[in-house]
Amino acid sequence: MKALAFDKSGLENLKYTDYEDPKVGPNDVLIRVKMAGVNPVDFLTVTRLKVNPIPHIPGVEFAGIVEKVGENVKKINVGDRVTIYGRIYDGSCDMCMIGYETLCRNGGRIGIDANGGWAEYISIEEKYVYKLPDNYCWEMGASFTVAALTAYHALKEANVKPTDTVVVFGASGNTGMFAVQLAKKFGAKVIAISRKNWLYDFGADYVVGYNEAVDKVREITNGKMADVVINSLGEKFWNESFELVGVKGKLVTFGALTGSEVKIDVGKLYSKHITIMGINRGNRKDFVELLELCKDCKVKVWKEYDLSEGVEALKGLSSPDRDGRIMIKVS
Ligand SMILES: [Zn+2]
Repeated sequence: MKALAFDKSGLENLKYTDYEDPKVGPNDVLIRVKMAGVNPVDFLTVTRLKVNPIPHIPGVEFAGIVEKVGENVKKINVGDRVTIYGRIYDGSCDMCMIGYETLCRNGGRIGIDANGGWAEYISIEEKYVYKLPDNYCWEMGASFTVAALTAYHALKEANVKPTDTVVVFGASGNTGMFAVQLAKKFGAKVIAISRKNWLYDFGADYVVGYNEAVDKVREITNGKMADVVINSLGEKFWNESFELVGVKGKLVTFGALTGSEVKIDVGKLYSKHITIMGINRGNRKDFVELLELCKDCKVKVWKEYDLSEGVEALKGLSSPDRDGRIMIKVS
């Protein structure tokens, strides 16, 4: 089959190439990939992370059509449209037992610790494969595993309530556009920090520029500031996002694109009873809920590349013109 693969770290080493066809074991599902998402973690996979196997096929997020199933596969059939839960988990450690597969002690990630979906075909154990309801387009199908799941899990962990004000930094990004839509479904007042006005169509009550964020949020909330602030950007805008958290508020983070060294004013932290929370994707329960909950969710796609254009697709992540998601259309 054709695939994007690399044998050592570096964008220059990612090649559109022939790769051995995946084997289909008795518990496996062979998926013909239709669409794959491009995420910052894919960039890290190709340039920095330790991967398995080598040569390695990246791609943590994808959707496709089932081509073949192993003899023990029960719930998935040939011809099904499917997406995947991408956390590798054993189902038996203490974290799995409390429903936190995303923190499995013996876990990993499809696309990093196993081959991913930037290929014509991928073979995966049935337990990771979920039917994609018919009303989802392929772009949406390829946005559940990381983008939508992380946003949903973050809002759940922060226990967002209908009376809350939620501020989303990087609101036009992969996770941000879902954080905005899902926070609205939680009933919250949503303030998107972004330059993109299309976020109003995604449910934002306010779209506020980065430089005016603190003043505007103070004005909108009559000085109470936010109950939940989501900032997946890392160092950049950390101080602003901390400043925006009101009393008993929460600051949720799940990314460090702009760096991970930040300062915290401990005095403000304790005097305002602020909680800082880290999030890493989400659990199977979240994933199943999301497939139901997100039926009217939208995905803003900036560019779709062919499978042969993996390097260009990854470079696009840091383009100043980027306006929405980057996808790889596989077939
Ligand atoms: Zn486990």
